[in-house]
Amino acid sequence: TAVHRRIKSPLPEITARKNNESTVRVALRTRPLNTNEAARGDASIFRFPSNNNRTEMQVVSASAGGRELVRSFHFDVCASAQVTQKEFFELCGITALLDSALEGYLATVFAYGQTGSGKTYSMSGLEEKLEKKNLDNRQIEETSDGLIPRTIRYLFKAIQTQNTAKYTLKASYCEIYNEQAYDLLNPASGSLNIRWNDHNGFYVQNLLVVQCDSIDDIMAVVDEGHRNRRVGSHEMNNDSSRSHSILTLLLDQEVVDPNDGHAVMKYGKISFVDLAGSERLRDTKSSNTEETSSINKSLMTLGKVISALGTKSTSQSTAFVPYRDSKLTKLLMDSLGGNSLTLMVACISPAPCFMEDTLSTLNYATRAKNIQNKPTIQTD
Ligand code: ADP
Repeated sequence: TAVHRRIKSPLPEITARKNNESTVRVALRTRPLNTNEAARGDASIFRFPSNNNRTEMQVVSASAGGRELVRSFHFDVCASAQVTQKEFFELCGITALLDSALEGYLATVFAYGQTGSGKTYSMSGLEEKLEKKNLDNRQIEETSDGLIPRTIRYLFKAIQTQNTAKYTLKASYCEIYNEQAYDLLNPASGSLNIRWNDHNGFYVQNLLVVQCDSIDDIMAVVDEGHRNRRVGSHEMNNDSSRSHSILTLLLDQEVVDPNDGHAVMKYGKISFVDLAGSERLRDTKSSNTEETSSINKSLMTLGKVISALGTKSTSQSTAFVPYRDSKLTKLLMDSLGGNSLTLMVACISPAPCFMEDTLSTLNYATRAKNIQNKPTIQTD
C-alpha cells in the first residue's frame, strides 16, 4: 500500500491566492437522539422550519409545559438528524472547496462540537463502517461514508475525467495533543516541531507526506492515521476527544501552456481538521491545572482567533489575531482569515442535558460565520 511507499518531502510553496479573501461557510449538523436518550424519553431540543430551505434551526426548551422557542439560528446549512451522509456531502457546500483545491487553491474543513456530537461521523464515518461489515461495499459507501471518503472519490473522479493537467495527490496526517504535534503516519517519530518559512508559512517539520496513486492508496493512509489516533501512538493516555487531528491532501498539478509548451505547477491543498471536544473549553474554566490548560490551549486560542476575525474591523482599529499563541492556530493560519475557503461543520447533540454545550457551539459557529473578508493581519 501507499503507506509502505512513503516519501518525505517538504510541503510545496503555496503560490495560488484566491482574491485575498477568506470565506467561511458554516454547516450545522445535529445527530439523532441515541438509544439511551430515546429510552429515557428525551425529546430533541431542535426544530427545523421547513420553509427556510435548510438555513434556519430553532432551539426549543424541552420543559414539560410545552416547547418554547429559546433562540433561532441561521447558517449556510442547517442539517437535521434525518439528513444522510450522502445528502450532507451535497448540501454542505464542500464541492466548491474541492473544485477550488483542484484549481490550485487552499481549502479547509473543520469539525467543531462537543464529544459525541458527530464530528468523526461527519468527517470520516469510519467507525460506522467497521460495524457494518455485513453490508456490501456500495451499501457501506451510501450509508456510512462521511466527508473524507466522499472527497477522495470526488477528487479522483475529477482528476480522471479531465485531460488538461497532470495531478499528483499526496497526503499527510498529524495530531496535536497537549500542545505537541505528532505524525499519525509515523508514530515512532515522536513529537515534531512546528516551523515557519516564508514560502509555506507554518508547517510541521519532518511530517511524512505519502504519494497516493489510487483511491485504495489514500484510504489506506487515512485508515492508518485514524487507527493511530485512536489506539494511542505515544505514551500519553491518548484520548481522541482531547486531540486535534489534521488530514492534509496535497494536489500538485502540472499544466502545460498550449502556446509555449511550458509546464506550470499549481499546488492545491485541502485540510480536514477534527477538533478536540468543545466541552474541553468548559473544563479549562473550572480547572487551572497546567495539563488541562495546555490540552485546551489550541482550542481556546482558536476561539480567540475566530472572535478577533469575526469582529468587524475598521481602518482605524484592526483586531489583533493571536495565531501564534497555539500550535493549532499556527497551522490553521492560512485557513482562517487567510486565503483559503473554509467550511466549518458545527456538530450538536439534540439531548436537553447538553443544552449549555450546544448553545456554546452555536455561538462559536455564529462568530465563525462573521469571518468574511481578510482583515489586515497582525501575527505577532
Ligand atoms: P464525536 O466525534 O463528536 O465525538 P461521533 O462522531 O463519535 O462524535 O458520534 C457519536 C455517536 O453518534 C456515534 O455513535 C455516531 O455513530 C453517532 N452519530 C453521530 N452523528 C450521527 C448522524 N448524523 N446520524 C447517525 N448517527 C450519528
